[in-house]
Amino acid sequence: MSLEFEISGTGEGGGRRGRLRLPHGVVETPVFMPVGTAASVKAVEQGVLEGLGTDGAGAQIILANTYHLYLRPGHELIRRMGGVHRFMSWERPMLTDSGGFQVFSLSKLRKVTPDGVEFSSNLDGSKHFFSPEHSIDVQIALGADVVMAFDECVKSPASWERTRESMGLTHGWAQRSKDHFELHKNEVPWFGERGSVAQSLFGIVQGGMYADLRKESAERMVEIGFPGYAIGGLAVGEPREVTWEMIARTLEILPKDKPRYVMGVGYPDEIKEYAKMGVDMMDCVLPTRAGRHGLLFMREEAGGPVVRMNIKRKEYAEDQRPIDEACGCPVCRRYSRAYLRHLYVAGEALSATLNSVHNLAFYLDTMTRVRAELAGSAML
Ligand SMILES: [Zn+2]
Repeated sequence: MSLEFEISGTGEGGGRRGRLRLPHGVVETPVFMPVGTAASVKAVEQGVLEGLGTDGAGAQIILANTYHLYLRPGHELIRRMGGVHRFMSWERPMLTDSGGFQVFSLSKLRKVTPDGVEFSSNLDGSKHFFSPEHSIDVQIALGADVVMAFDECVKSPASWERTRESMGLTHGWAQRSKDHFELHKNEVPWFGERGSVAQSLFGIVQGGMYADLRKESAERMVEIGFPGYAIGGLAVGEPREVTWEMIARTLEILPKDKPRYVMGVGYPDEIKEYAKMGVDMMDCVLPTRAGRHGLLFMREEAGGPVVRMNIKRKEYAEDQRPIDEACGCPVCRRYSRAYLRHLYVAGEALSATLNSVHNLAFYLDTMTRVRAELAGSAML
């Protein structure tokens, strides 16, 4: 077995307290996964990631983006370095996306055919082709614990007809991704080092903002059969109620005993809400991206609503308080708003690091509390 998922408790809203066993370790779920785009969670080094959060447990699993690593430094180079874990010195679990989302959002001159998609690099304009088979080959070379089926992402908003057509393509590509993965999964760089375990391939449910298409897509993915399922194509500008609705309708179809992953969400209150609905895994660039822009997640008072503090504001120039009095992260324990504002305004590199560390800790702490709540041990 390359993946084992045990659920130890279920909350009233359907949220699950679980444990996901992967080749590089155990992940307590529901979990938030920091995004390490190019094998780096921007501005935060691995040693710090390992100790993040008030409980010091650190990030349990991080993401890397296939598209970025394929273009630079190249997946074959990473394979020669022993895989992405060894390359970046991160021995905990990892997940790679299929590259689909970036191919459709970052690159120009795309040409989509039933076989795959031709695109030009956002780095130098060079031409490339991704098919489901190629995405899987690249992800096997990178060697993350969890890999994703190649999917097409439609621009939102899209018509029902366009969404359905795209979804059909995604379903065909999911089957091809699985077939190719099954043939080649033993080629992962670390195969044999951790017993006879390999990576796990998750399918991705699409269907845009249409409940009937989401249902159809989820049913088709379950029919193909994967050890875990992702819900993709959300948080692309639609109202929050729509995101909620699409997740809720999809969760009704997905098997209860398999991990469920919503890709690319969200704000701290959203990840908490989705976890309580029964989503087990989430990832988002928001904590690090917002941090680099001087936006810090915090609560004015314990238990209050989460707000985003804009640290560059003048009112913080002589504010001696930490970002959030209730946050136990190393940044809040040590530095004042006044100092963080100064670093941001002066364009110091440390600004991005400290802001990202706090925001990531805030996200991880949010999930630690949700897990405690789901386990029945009130920690809030
Ligand atoms: Zn903090």
